Amino acid sequence: MLSLFLTDYTTEELTACIDAAYDSKFDTEEIAPLVQADGAYYLELFHGATIAFKDMALSILPHLMTTAAKKNGITDGIVILTATSGDTGKAALAGFADVPGTKIIVFYPKNGVSAVQERQMVTQKGENTAVIGITGNFDDAQTGVKKMFNDAAMKEELAAKGYRFSSANSINIGRLVPQIVYYTYAYAKLLAEGHIADGEKINVTVPTGNFGNILAAYYAKQIGVPIDKLICASNTNKVLFDFFQTGEYDRNREFVLTSSPSMDILISSNLERLIYHIAGDDSAVTAELMKKLAAGGKYDITDAMKKGLSDFVSGFATEDDTAAAIRSLYELTGYVIDPHTAVGDSVYRRYAKASGDATKTVIASTASPFKFARSVMSAIEGRRSEEPDMDLIERLSKTANVALPPAIIELKTAPVRHDTVCETAEMPDVVRNILTKQVCGK
Ligand SMILES: *Cc1c(COP(=O)(O)O)cnc(C)c1O
Repeated sequence: MLSLFLTDYTTEELTACIDAAYDSKFDTEEIAPLVQADGAYYLELFHGATIAFKDMALSILPHLMTTAAKKNGITDGIVILTATSGDTGKAALAGFADVPGTKIIVFYPKNGVSAVQERQMVTQKGENTAVIGITGNFDDAQTGVKKMFNDAAMKEELAAKGYRFSSANSINIGRLVPQIVYYTYAYAKLLAEGHIADGEKINVTVPTGNFGNILAAYYAKQIGVPIDKLICASNTNKVLFDFFQTGEYDRNREFVLTSSPSMDILISSNLERLIYHIAGDDSAVTAELMKKLAAGGKYDITDAMKKGLSDFVSGFATEDDTAAAIRSLYELTGYVIDPHTAVGDSVYRRYAKASGDATKTVIASTASPFKFARSVMSAIEGRRSEEPDMDLIERLSKTANVALPPAIIELKTAPVRHDTVCETAEMPDVVRNILTKQVCGK
């Protein structure tokens, strides 16, 4: 699959990257198990180093990047700048930690990630890693990072020091391509196990934030995987739902912190790629719309472009819907899902009921429930508990009858290594400071 897209690499190079990425960092040999519960198929994408789906691509990205750099005779240090709503940051840190010739700097919203997510990041090991909390929200962090990428003066300043910026955010094509693989895998697995007939179409439901994961499913469909509907599930920050309903993308609205923080996003960066495709692969039209988004926070698409969205179904789940989805699946089957997956579950089940569409459906299960134990346990028990996170995690392990993942066990004793907090406006200076202090890779 990778060789179809990453045609600059030899088979040997890709194989070496794959072997380095999908090894014992994953806690199951299957890498992405498909679990059937209450008539749906949950594609568990959370068995990597940080127990969330971003490990699927971020485990291989550093190897793809350093292989590409080597092939192209690039000797500059690669500086990964990343804004995270919680999961990308840790997955990128885990992927790049101590990779020779790289450095990684991650910004996260200080008050916008779960306790476990924050702890995972601030305990990150590796001499080439830096983690900074910002006083704004995720969009502020992402905008700050994008500004640095587009700052020609800063780029020159870094080049003089032997550095070049690169991104590990979901706009990086090296993130998208590995994600296409697992949708294809899920289809093949359903077929191999006799759940579907050859050529039978399936639906795919994706809890969505930056629109990367669902775009990968769209690409899987484009290259011929028999997928019918792409069900785009949003939480209360339902800017994508509104877009699919009306054709107007409008980020001018209140930003809400939810129990699915990795989807608390008002600017879905990868939507730009879909816009490009539905505009007939027209980059001028796309650039025009993105300019409008940057200037006024909104844009409209034409009726002709709207036709390109017919593969998509959209829905959103409120906080109550999300908790209800976790509880009812648990009560029915004993299977426990995290709040992000629950947004997908809730939207899927409402869609299936309303439309009568009985197509077999794969739900992207994007995080381990252990990562969001507080929300999960309060959904199951119907009350908010004051217990410390680690106690809740232990209790969840008993409730779900699932052993604690190694990633969680490590957190218990890991020391805090990163405690810098800054304002959004200070981000460039923080980066300069880090780059003058640290050496690149080791
Ligand atoms: C990032 C993330 C999402 C959203 O994925 P996008 O590719 O940004 O749409 C959903 N769930 C979890 C747990 C995530 O970490």
